[in-house]
Formats: sequence, structure tokens, C-alpha cells
Amino acid sequence: MEIRGIRKECLDTLRAVGKSQYPREFVAVLRERDGIIEEFDLAPGTVVTEQSAGFSPEMMPLDVHAVGSAHSHPSGALRPSDADLRFFGRMGKYHLIFGPPYGEGDWRAFRRDGTPVSLEVIE
Ligand SMILES: [Zn+2]
Repeated sequence: MEIRGIRKECLDTLRAVGKSQYPREFVAVLRERDGIIEEFDLAPGTVVTEQSAGFSPEMMPLDVHAVGSAHSHPSGALRPSDADLRFFGRMGKYHLIFGPPYGEGDWRAFRRDGTPVSLEVIE
């Protein structure tokens, strides 16, 4: 399935989650419908720790419509860490990173190899 973009409402909700969890990290699994990223599931356990959530793909819900992930970097560094890259390679095609202040431009999208990719925001 070719992904055409992300629904603005979904993006806005992810930003709101990032803001509400700050200074903690959140991790979510992104899901598509008809080629548009429309929904997400928060990964279990990611919102209860003060430490970096880290990634444990085993905890992620299996879903054929999962297209990637979203998570936050409370430090504000909008680029994947080495651990992120290892995780990206195991799951999905598109990976979003959010950072404070979680405004409209405070996120980036990456391919699984860490290459920045532009993702269209669809109203
Ligand atoms: Zn990260």
C-alpha cells in the first residue's frame, strides 16, 4: 500500500499526546486507511515511565494496517537515535518523531533507514 499522507486530525492528536506526556516520551503505532495515515494506537506501557520509553516491538499490537510508528523526543532533537533506527528497520515504512513545543512544525518523518521523507498533511 502506497501511503499518500497523514490526516491532519491524526497529526494534531499525536501532537496533543506529545504535549500531554511531556517531559515523558510516548510511542504509538500508526495505521492507514486507503493509503492515508488515519489512526494510531499508543504502545502499552509507554506512558507510565519517566525514562525513555525505549522500544519493544513485542508489545506493539500486530496489525496489517500498521504502517509505521510515532514517538516523541522530549529533548527536542528531531532525528532518529541509533536505537530508533534499529527499531524502524523492524516495523513499517514511516516513522514520525515529535518534539517540544509540539507545534504544527515540530515533527519530522523518516523512512526505515532514517532518511527524512516528506509526508503530505491531508485535511
Ligand atoms: Zn527516538
